[in-house]
Amino acid sequence: MKVHEYQAKDILRSYGVPIPGGVVAETVDEAVAAAEELKEDGASLFVVKAQIHAGGRGKGGGVKLAESVDEVRTHASDILGMQLVTHQTGPEGQKVRKILVTDGVDIAQEYYVGVTLDRAKSMNVIMVSSEGGVEIETVAEENPDAIHKAWIDPTLGLRPFQARKLAFGLGLEGDAFKQCVRFIMALYEAFEETDSTIAEINPMVRTPDGDIVAVDAKVNLDDNALFRHKDLADLRDIHEEDPTEVEASEHGLSYIKLDGNVGCMVNGAGLAMATMDIIKLSGGEPANFLDVGGTANAETVEEAFRIILKDENVEAILVNIFGGIVRCDRVAKGVIEAAKNIDIHVPLIVRLQGTNAEEAKELLEASDVEIESAVLLKEAADKVEAALTA
Ligand code: GDP
Ligand code: MN
Repeated sequence: MKVHEYQAKDILRSYGVPIPGGVVAETVDEAVAAAEELKEDGASLFVVKAQIHAGGRGKGGGVKLAESVDEVRTHASDILGMQLVTHQTGPEGQKVRKILVTDGVDIAQEYYVGVTLDRAKSMNVIMVSSEGGVEIETVAEENPDAIHKAWIDPTLGLRPFQARKLAFGLGLEGDAFKQCVRFIMALYEAFEETDSTIAEINPMVRTPDGDIVAVDAKVNLDDNALFRHKDLADLRDIHEEDPTEVEASEHGLSYIKLDGNVGCMVNGAGLAMATMDIIKLSGGEPANFLDVGGTANAETVEEAFRIILKDENVEAILVNIFGGIVRCDRVAKGVIEAAKNIDIHVPLIVRLQGTNAEEAKELLEASDVEIESAVLLKEAADKVEAALTA
């Protein structure tokens, strides 16, 4: 799950990562009040920042420096409500509903610091680079030597010498060096304790006074660990998510929209992947990933059809369910029921295998729903191909 910059900063601040003051605002008046408040605390430079779940806001015009409260007002009214386009939003952009007004810092140098899981090494990795403000992927391609990494043994955790080595790699000295070591230790602790998948500070900056602070913050949380972080789960902002995916998750379905023409309804992520391969083999392209989970019933099946059919690119639907705990006859009844309630206007290919598959086949054949039934996966693929070329 992604969270906004202001939320990521609140989390990281609570672990001791040094972050300049900031106040989130939803209206221009709130932004002005926020700037007044920061000014009272001594701020003379402000930054007005669009809060959307995408990076690259600066280049898209979503991050603006202001030298006065009046300038904050101007930038706030420009940014709030804008459709911000960045390289991460797609061409349609994302509507800005909130802005963060922060205490602006003077920058002597920008750095990159990020933590994530290195799956190949089965260890978390901390990456730093002296090319701050530039995307780490770009640095990795153009100047890989500028990146320093430390892998964290899960049984030992981050050891101080590793943080020192990273700070040294950034060329820091004196107090800035010490602050950077503390910064990295705090960031790593936050990453681990919140079960994050990414904690990235780009840029971390050194001020002319030699202080190290985070100017930007990105935190992605592991969805599978949110059950033990109820307070973090509440940070979800559904405005930033695809509305169909939100609707699907409300019905216990894992749905991800893709660009293809064959909708698929499957149980289990592994079977979903295999089914998507089969669709490709048949000359189609999957229109979605959809896992109905282990409790497929008439309602979830109907909801799944509804969601798949919202996508106008869908030219055929392949239902591929393995009946283990969920019995095939129940799924078949669900398909028949769903076909009564909604207009499935594209060819429907159904493959039900496993518990009560025979009964399921009989039910489907006896129904007046137009279904191409398949037993083997190859057969299903051929029927999808026939449907697409018909
Ligand atoms: P992003 O473009 O979405 O990654 O947003 P950032 O928060 O990283 O801001 C983009 C750029 O704006 C940074 O790389 C900085 O160069 C600049 N910036 C952001 N905050 C400050 C600040 O407090 N002071 C100064 N001088 N520049 C800032
Ligand atoms: Mn940034």
